Amino acid sequence: MNIILLGAPGAGKGTQASKIKQKYNLLHISTGDIFRANIKGGTEIGKLAKSYIDAGVLVPDEVTCDIVKDRLTWDDVKQGYMLDGFPRNLFQAKELDKFAKIDLCLNIEVDESLLMDRICGRRVCACGESYHINTLNGSTTCAKCGKELYQRADDNPETVKSRLDTYNTQTAPLIDYYKSQGKLVSVTSGEGSPDDVFAEICKILG
Ligand code: AMP
Repeated sequence: MNIILLGAPGAGKGTQASKIKQKYNLLHISTGDIFRANIKGGTEIGKLAKSYIDAGVLVPDEVTCDIVKDRLTWDDVKQGYMLDGFPRNLFQAKELDKFAKIDLCLNIEVDESLLMDRICGRRVCACGESYHINTLNGSTTCAKCGKELYQRADDNPETVKSRLDTYNTQTAPLIDYYKSQGKLVSVTSGEGSPDDVFAEICKILG
């Protein structure tokens, strides 16, 4: 099964992806993670992507689509995968239809008023786990692997505002795109706890 995880920044796509991966053994492919790894590694893609990511806007479509197209040629995708953060606009969605077969698009719904606090309070670990300062009780390390947590460079109010604008203008139209393909399923408990959201997703995935 190949799934798209759709939702605004801060909707919990990454958190749910890690739970889905554990239970359903689906590969987690996050374009944001791929870009951040490239930035860390100082690659040409990383150098190009950084200015866009810092500004909270989309990295150019051609670069992004090429990365995903290439990633989907690897052998491990045969086990089924989740796309997290891709596609992010109609052009990317139409390109994806040319080189992948998507079964389902899970749209995690969260009221926009909650997103700024969720993102700016987010602390992440290199292992992929993420937390919110409100539930960390002062801890600065990952409960799963013990590494030091950090705040993503683009998780600041100014960049988040731009990321939310980008989502509303460019990504939200994908809801209708996948609805018209009969692939959209809404996850309506997105404002609940990660476990509540995951329980709803499990019902959907069966
Ligand atoms: P994310 O980790 O999904 O929040 O993505 C972080 C940033 O990476 C976004 O704000 C974009 O600048 C960039 N990015 C991630 N996925 C895409 C995509 N599909 N198309 C263009 N830019 C992307």
